Amino acid sequence: MPNQWMSKGACKDWPTSTFFPEKGDHRTLKLARSICEECPVKTECYDYALEEATIIELLGVWAGTTQKCRTRILKEKGRRASRAKYHDLDLVPT
Ligand code: SF4
Repeated sequence: MPNQWMSKGACKDWPTSTFFPEKGDHRTLKLARSICEECPVKTECYDYALEEATIIELLGVWAGTTQKCRTRILKEKGRRASRAKYHDLDLVPT
């Protein structure tokens, strides 16, 4: 079964709405992040969330990240990958 880690997530004992706070609901977002912080599978969740975010519009809090956070992380990763490719081409003036 793929993503077996999901059954071990700390979020399973909380209402789903906790991980889908309304815009501006910092209190619920803070609660979700504190739950994620203690979650035994947050690394798997983080990797999954970033992977999925490249394919679909993944909403909600995953591993303490919001959709906005994930977009920013992926943009930064993309920039780093582009820079690495540029360096691989050996086009950097010495
Ligand atoms: S890190 Fe957060 S969203 Fe991910 S499985 Fe754990 S509690 Fe759920």
